Amino acid sequence: MSLVSLENVVKRFGSLEVLKGVSLEVDKGEIVAVIGRSGSGKSTMLRCINALEPVQAGRIMVDGIEVTAPGADHNKLRARVGMVFQSYNLFPHLNVERNVKLALKLVRRMSDAEASEVARRMVAKVGLEDKLLAYPDELSGGQQQRVAIARSLAMQPTIMLFDEITSALDPELVGEVLKVLEELAEEGMTMMLVTHEMHFARTVADRVVFMHEGRIHEEGPAEQILREPGTAELRNFLSAVL
Ligand code: ADP
Ligand code: MG
Repeated sequence: MSLVSLENVVKRFGSLEVLKGVSLEVDKGEIVAVIGRSGSGKSTMLRCINALEPVQAGRIMVDGIEVTAPGADHNKLRARVGMVFQSYNLFPHLNVERNVKLALKLVRRMSDAEASEVARRMVAKVGLEDKLLAYPDELSGGQQQRVAIARSLAMQPTIMLFDEITSALDPELVGEVLKVLEELAEEGMTMMLVTHEMHFARTVADRVVFMHEGRIHEEGPAEQILREPGTAELRNFLSAVL
């Protein structure tokens, strides 16, 4: 059964149609890499899945919740969908442990002790147990991004959305973040990730979705679609990024 389903989703910003009828199904445990030129609608699609943007037409279902239904419970939705962006958005005045604990206490209503326990486990999971008491400005970009992932995982989402999470990092820091994603993949986490890391898409993603001008222009098994692109648009895109 699919965990995420988009049916003919149309999204406009004023007169600009950014998603022109997007349909997509993501199965539980599947890893989908979303690729495409800047402006093709990748971030908008992820933001619609998480109800950060309303849509003008079509239907989105996530883990049994009809996101696009009037009066849909967005808090319930966001408890199941974790999202990590290019900018890590950690609270600068809170240390790592408190950054991860915050939503556990405010949203999940955990006790301080319980939240501390979860935070320690999640921070260890991303390999930063020795940085629990550090503040964001004492960490590298890659470490901050790993904390952002830990913070999201602490909420026990059923699906994770990653939007170009390595794009702002110095090249030598990309690997440590991708390694965390690889481990999540091995644990069976369902993931959708917008990425320009084609090697990563090929090795970790089950499926690649190529967006072009607001539509899914081509999709298929990662290995196949990256090796033998079927359309000129995807060939051009790949030759520009590889
Ligand atoms: P991508 O992530 O593939 O680079 P986006 O989804 O960010 O593309 O953007 C798709 C198009 O939608 C772009 O033309 C962008 O300028 C436009 N867009 C995105 N967000 C907004 C917004 N909040 N208001 C108006 N236009 C937007
Ligand atoms: Mg984007």
